[in-house]
Amino acid sequence: MRLSRYFLPLLKENPKEAEIVSHRLMLRAGMIRQQAAGIYSMLPLGKKVLDKVCNIIREEQNRAGAIEILMPTVQPADLWIESGRYNDYGQEMLRIRDRHDRAMLFGPTNEEMVTDIFRSYVRSYKDLPLNLYHIQWKFRDEVRPRFGVMRGREFLMKDAYSFDLDFEGARAAYNRMFVAYLRTFDRCGLKSIPMRADTGPIGGDLSHEFIVLAETGESEVFCHRDYLELDVPGANVDFNDDAQMASIVEKWTTPYAATDEMHDEAEWAKTPEAERLSARGIEVGHIFHFGTKYSEPMGAAVTGPDGKQHNVSMGSYGIGPTRLIGAIIEASHDDNGIIWPESVAPFGAAIVNMKPGDAGCDGVSDQVYAALTKAGVDPLLDDTDDRAGAKFAAMDLIGLPWQVVVGPRGVGNGVVEVKNRKTGERQEVTPEAAVNMLTGRG
Ligand code: ATP
Ligand code: MG
Repeated sequence: MRLSRYFLPLLKENPKEAEIVSHRLMLRAGMIRQQAAGIYSMLPLGKKVLDKVCNIIREEQNRAGAIEILMPTVQPADLWIESGRYNDYGQEMLRIRDRHDRAMLFGPTNEEMVTDIFRSYVRSYKDLPLNLYHIQWKFRDEVRPRFGVMRGREFLMKDAYSFDLDFEGARAAYNRMFVAYLRTFDRCGLKSIPMRADTGPIGGDLSHEFIVLAETGESEVFCHRDYLELDVPGANVDFNDDAQMASIVEKWTTPYAATDEMHDEAEWAKTPEAERLSARGIEVGHIFHFGTKYSEPMGAAVTGPDGKQHNVSMGSYGIGPTRLIGAIIEASHDDNGIIWPESVAPFGAAIVNMKPGDAGCDGVSDQVYAALTKAGVDPLLDDTDDRAGAKFAAMDLIGLPWQVVVGPRGVGNGVVEVKNRKTGERQEVTPEAAVNMLTGRG
């Protein structure tokens, strides 16, 4: 992409309304535009990051055996009356009437709708296990929308729903999602810590919030330092192996970890003082086993091997991709701007042409641009005639992992400067060597 033809509305000033660094940087880097309290448009740079985050989520959901669907944002109230949640949900739900005066709503979550899909088609235990997910906008009329996309009213969610014959099956489904979440957040460049969460009237211990440590997080958390060093399962992990899944979950749930809601001082005291980490964190994901809470009132049952009808045992598994972008920035930035992990960077590299119109600079910039594009790096070429200082500040702000600076003096000597955004390291190398470095060949 050439910057002169792109839409990148950077802000020079720090927006007053932004209380935390990720919100400030997303606005300044031209990623989002607020349209109403807690409601945002994703501008081109934001949309690119969101797509990358969603693709990582999708790949890991698919790897774990979940199947993608897409349910609508608008739902009939009838389903929620059936489950008994229509009145319970309160003011967070956006209730709508259509032209026939039918009660509708903008979905805050999709348990009822997915249960309706399930009961309409699935009859036998032989069709289980089943896990259906979608990535769709949700609306919750939060009391205090704030921190930009971190706590929005309209926000994107990946929500998966598992269906099993019995509790043992549901536990195995839960474990698969647990492992998929560890991998997903790791691939987004984040250290996430699964923390015991409230199971309410359902009981048991199958509810975890995945928390990313950050000073600006809304949750107060307590955990063992061991979590900072635990190995995340690799891509070769076998999601069909229930025992392997269970042992990973065991390893990741043994050291103490809880948010303030679940914090237990007596248990905490058993963790040696030097190993205790009390901090703040951002909830980026939440997995939850709820058994027959919806299958029973909504009549979602299958015939078991015993020939009898069984209400299916269910779980739900949410990740907020829009909140995740905020969490990534909270975890990875400096005074000059965002520092994207390569896996979610909106462009793989910046090429900064210091003197557009100069035949030498244009030639080398175009050569590097073509080679990086061909190698799939997806570069952003700054071919504008802004001042040098403004160009460097803009590129640091949007935080692409690499910058290739093409200036007249260097071009005269047959070199360009390659800067690593994260380390700040600079090297003068030939344009060919620069391309090799950025494509992992040098
Ligand atoms: P919170 O406790 O932060 O209000 P929640 O418990 O209501 O979240 P879930 O219903 O578990 O959230 O939703 C699953 C995921 O969706 C969360 O882990 C989070 O990543 C995301 N999410 C929830 N609410 C919001 C919101 N208002 N804005 C952005 N993302 C959200
Ligand atoms: Mg939650």
